[in-house]
Amino acid sequence: MSVQVVAAKMAEVELKDVPTGKDLPAGSPMTPTSEGKNLGRNEPHEAGSSAVASPTAEPSAKVGEGSLGLLTPNPAKMPQASAMKRSDPQQNGGEAFVNRDGTVAEAPRMKKIQFAEQKQEFNKRPSKIGRRSLSRSISQSSTDSYSSAASYTDSSDDETSPRDKQQKNSKGNGDFCIKNIKQADFGRREIEIAEQEMPALMALRKRAQGEKPLAGAKVVGCTHITAQTAVLMETLSALGAQCRWAACNIYSTQNEVAAALAEGGFSVFAWKGESEDDFWWCIDRCVNVEGWQPNMILDDGGDLTHWIYKKYPNMFKKIKGIVEESVTGVHRLYQLSKAGKLCVPAMNVNDSVTKQKFDNLYCCRESILDGLKRTTDVMFGGKQVVVCGYGEVGKGCCAALKAMGSIVYVTEIDPICALQACMDGFRLVKLNEVIRQVDIVITCTGNKNVVVREYLDRMKNGCIVCNMGHSNTEIDVASLRTPELTWERVRSQVDHVIWPDGKRIVLLAEGRLLNLSCSTVPTFVLSITATTQALALIELYNAPEGRYKQDVYLLPKKMDEYVASLHLPTFDAHLTELTDEQAKYLGLNKNGPFKPNYYRY
Ligand code: NAD
Repeated sequence: MSVQVVAAKMAEVELKDVPTGKDLPAGSPMTPTSEGKNLGRNEPHEAGSSAVASPTAEPSAKVGEGSLGLLTPNPAKMPQASAMKRSDPQQNGGEAFVNRDGTVAEAPRMKKIQFAEQKQEFNKRPSKIGRRSLSRSISQSSTDSYSSAASYTDSSDDETSPRDKQQKNSKGNGDFCIKNIKQADFGRREIEIAEQEMPALMALRKRAQGEKPLAGAKVVGCTHITAQTAVLMETLSALGAQCRWAACNIYSTQNEVAAALAEGGFSVFAWKGESEDDFWWCIDRCVNVEGWQPNMILDDGGDLTHWIYKKYPNMFKKIKGIVEESVTGVHRLYQLSKAGKLCVPAMNVNDSVTKQKFDNLYCCRESILDGLKRTTDVMFGGKQVVVCGYGEVGKGCCAALKAMGSIVYVTEIDPICALQACMDGFRLVKLNEVIRQVDIVITCTGNKNVVVREYLDRMKNGCIVCNMGHSNTEIDVASLRTPELTWERVRSQVDHVIWPDGKRIVLLAEGRLLNLSCSTVPTFVLSITATTQALALIELYNAPEGRYKQDVYLLPKKMDEYVASLHLPTFDAHLTELTDEQAKYLGLNKNGPFKPNYYRY
C-alpha cells in the first residue's frame, strides 16, 4: 500500500478538546461503552499484512496472542501486541525482532548490561566517600549522566545522608527517603510546568475521573525521578494505582520534585548523588515493605526487575507484568526470555513507533542546536557542518542545521539513506573530502571509529567535534590522549585539544552523546514515553489471564496511534475520519490501526 493511499484514510476525529471516547482505543476502561460498540470489527488490513512476510523472517518467531485487553471490546479481532524474539543480540550490537506479520525488523543497538553481585546487607553508615563512589556494577544507565533530569537545586551544602535523616511530611507520613522535604513547594512548581507539555497524561487524568483502570494496581517504579516522572506518577495515582518509586540513575533525581512527591503522599526513595549502596537500598525500600506487595513493575534499565528476581522471586506470583522503557532493560528482558526465566509478560515500550520517532528524529532535531549553543555559543548561519549518518538522528540534526542557515554535508554508507540525503538537498560526501573545511563535525551513526585521529589531525583550527550517537565510540577520543596534544578544559563538557602548532579543536562531552550530556530533552518527548508507559501498564494490568504469555511484547499499533492522538489537541489538529465507503475500500477499521506492522513511518 502506498504512502499516499494510507495518508488518505486517517480518521477525522475532532480533537480540539480533551479526547472523547471515540478516540480512545475501543473497549478501554475509560471508553464509554456506547462508543465502543462499533469498534474492533474486521481487520482485513491486518489480515492482509500477514501475507507480506519478509523473506528474512525467522521461522521460529513467536507471534503474540494478546490483544489490547480492556482497551478493546473484541480481543479476538483487535490488533495484538507482538511477541518479539531476539536474534543474536550481541552481534554487532544489533538485533532482530519479529513482527506479528512475520516480518523482521531491526531493533536499536544495545549496550551491554552488568548487574551487581548485590549485597543482602546494606551499609548502615557508609563513609562520605563510600556514598559518592561510582560503581560499574549497577547497570550502565544507572550512572549515565542525564542532564535533562538534573536538578536545579544544589543541596550539596547539606552533607547528611537522607538515610540518616528523620523523614516526615507535613501530614506526619514518613514512608519515603529524600534529600529535603522543605523543597516541596519548589518541586510542585516544576511539576506544574511539566504538566503544560504533557497533554496526553492530563487528558488521561480527566478521563479517569469516573473510571479507574488501575484500581488495585500496586506499581513499583524505578525511573529517572524528574518533574515529568512526577506527572506520570500522579496520573497513575489518579487512574487508581498505588505507587512506590526509586531512581534508576544515581545522579538524575530532581530533589525538589522528590520532595513534592513525598509531600503529596508518594513513597519515594531517591536523591541526587546516591552511592551504589544507596541505589540498591532505595530499590529495596520500595519492594521490601510490610503489608504491601507490588503487582506491576515499571522499570527503566532493568535494575528493579533484576533486584526482585534475585531477592524476592516469590513476588512474581502476584506480579501481572513488567513495563520496560530502556534499551538496556529490554535487552535484559530478552535475555531472561531466551533463557526461559521470564515468568511474567513484559511490554517493551522502547520500540514503540511513536516513542522511537520522538526520541530519535524530533528530539535530536531540537536538541542538537541546544547542545551546541550551550557549550560553544556558536552561530550556525553560514557554518559548514558535516553530519555522519543519515538515519533518524542524522535527519533530525541536518534538518535543524539547514533551517539555521548552515551548509550541511552528509556522509553515509547506506545508498538508500544516502539517496534520501540527496533528495533532501544535502551534499553527500566522504569525510576526507570535507574534513579540512568544515566548522562542525557531528557523528550519529551508532558505529565506531567514524572520526579517527587522521581526520582530527586534518581539521581546521576551531573545528567543533561532537557525537549524537549512543556510545562514545564514534569519535576516537582515546587517540587524542597522546603526549604531544594538550587538553584544556574550558567549560563543563568542553575541551580544547591543542596541537603543537597551536591548532585547537573543540571537543564536546568527550565524545559522549551531546544532547543528553549538555542540553535537555523536551518535556513533550518525555510525554510520549510516559503516556506509552501508562497505557502499557493499563493494558497488562487489565489483560485477562492468558492473553499475554511469559514473553516480551511490543505495544499494539493501535495503542501507538492512541498515544499520538492524545497529543494532537495541543496543536488544534483536526484528523480526517474515513468514510464507511473509504474504510471498506481500503479494508480498514475506521478507528485503526491504520498501518500494518511493517509500515515504515
Ligand atoms: P539509524 O540506524 O537510523 O542511523 C544511523 C545511520 O548511520 C544509518 O543510516 C547507517 O547507514 C549510518 N552509518 C553507519 N555507519 C556509518 C559510517 N561509518 N559513516 C556514515 N554513516 C554510517 O540510527 P538512529 O536512530 O539515527 O540512531 C543513531 C545513533 O544515535 C544510535 O547510536 C542511537 O542509539 C543514537 N540515538 C541518540 C539519540 C539522542 O538523543 N542523541 C536518540 C536516539 C538514538
